[in-house]
Amino acid sequence: MELNLSSEDAAFRDEVRAFIAGNYPAEMRVPNPETDLSKEQMLLWHRILHQKGWIAPLWPKEYGGPGWSITRRFIFEQETSRAGTLPPLAFSITMVGPVIYTFGNEAQKQKFLPRILSGEDWWCQGYSEPGSGSDLASARTRAERDGDEWVLNGQKVWTSSAHVADVALAVCRTDPDVPKHQGLTTFLVDMHAPGVEVRPLRQMTGSANFNEVFLTDVRVPDSHRVGELNKGFGVILTTLGNERTIATRAPSSGRGIGPFERLLGVVDNFGDRRDPRQRQRLAQLYIADRIKDLLIERWRASLAPGVTPGPEMSILKLHNCRNNIELVHMLTEVLGPRLAADTGAWGAFAWNEFLCSTPGARIGGGTEEIVRNTVGEEVLGLPKEPRP
Ligand SMILES: Cc1cc2nc3c(=O)[nH]c(=O)nc-3n(C[C@H](O)[C@H](O)[C@H](O)COP(=O)(O)OP(=O)(O)OC[C@H]3O[C@@H](n4cnc5c(N)ncnc54)[C@H](O)[C@@H]3O)c2cc1C
Repeated sequence: MELNLSSEDAAFRDEVRAFIAGNYPAEMRVPNPETDLSKEQMLLWHRILHQKGWIAPLWPKEYGGPGWSITRRFIFEQETSRAGTLPPLAFSITMVGPVIYTFGNEAQKQKFLPRILSGEDWWCQGYSEPGSGSDLASARTRAERDGDEWVLNGQKVWTSSAHVADVALAVCRTDPDVPKHQGLTTFLVDMHAPGVEVRPLRQMTGSANFNEVFLTDVRVPDSHRVGELNKGFGVILTTLGNERTIATRAPSSGRGIGPFERLLGVVDNFGDRRDPRQRQRLAQLYIADRIKDLLIERWRASLAPGVTPGPEMSILKLHNCRNNIELVHMLTEVLGPRLAADTGAWGAFAWNEFLCSTPGARIGGGTEEIVRNTVGEEVLGLPKEPRP
């Protein structure tokens, strides 16, 4: 969508465009960034944006945000999306930073926010446990007070990036004798501390980005408790609200153009645009792609620095998931057995990675069923699901 820009904003757009063209590292343009780039390579663009002061467009200025107007944030997103740049470290900038500047104490802000901005620390989210996923309030990992420290024992699972992380934002049970939502507290856990054991889990995509994390007598200073004792559920809700915004990033990020345009190329090579069935499906996918863009634009226009995104974000997540499934169905039909070829084939796009990661996207950050409950109850105001 082209914007009607003032001359100052048009100059800003040209500046962003030129900055990306002159600075985006060529070595980051690979078919499948998740598996093809090393930790150091993943950080290249992050560091460049940090030096420029553009790393965290949605953070309040006092904590390191650039202080842009909505229009400028929008321009920046549009230009980075168009140029297919990889987003900076999504988890720390999008999810942990807002938690720390909203709930953290002064020392935590002073220590961790600059390190998040610079990319010095890598983070992971230790929320899910065996038996506690959708129902995070039932988490059982214990944190018991011992003087100025807490002693953590338990197990986390599906912890993305734990194998490369320096710090985890982890939720633990600090009071087992009160209703489950009221006995949780969040902590910043040093992933290199004694007692932390990370065991990678291989996914069907071939990557091993997920992990089990075992915590055995891990000592965490009370100064690394985030927010008030037993108020961890509020921290969880803030993190999840921000997590759903990650779904708003154009899927083209890091790859130049989006899957829909890529699919058109595949159909031209291996399908038949004159086939009425294929044409009809392409038209439906195109419409869904445009609806996604409009939902993203509506959301961006409503955001302000430091504000936690509301439940409406869930609609975008549902739309995106359904869209990608339809796209994958068509792709499978057109490419057939060719899909089993190496990652990166068919137009330097990792189609098999895209296909194999589609089911996971329906679960991560809240399953489709849970997200539908959120939309029903909090957006549409329908009667709430019975809860104990
Ligand atoms: C790609 C990906 C990345 C992830 N990254 C992380 C991470 O970094 N850190 C982390 O902590 N976790 C992470 N997770 C875990 C994720 O948050 C959980 O898998 C998810 O919340 C679901 O929990 P569960 O697997 O325990 O399934 P369950 O909660 O057991 O759900 C099983 C099924 O029951 C349904 N269900 C459950 N409750 C209800 C209900 N009330 N109403 C209707 N249906 C219901 C669910 O929709 C689902 O179909 C990740 C998962 C994926 C796939």
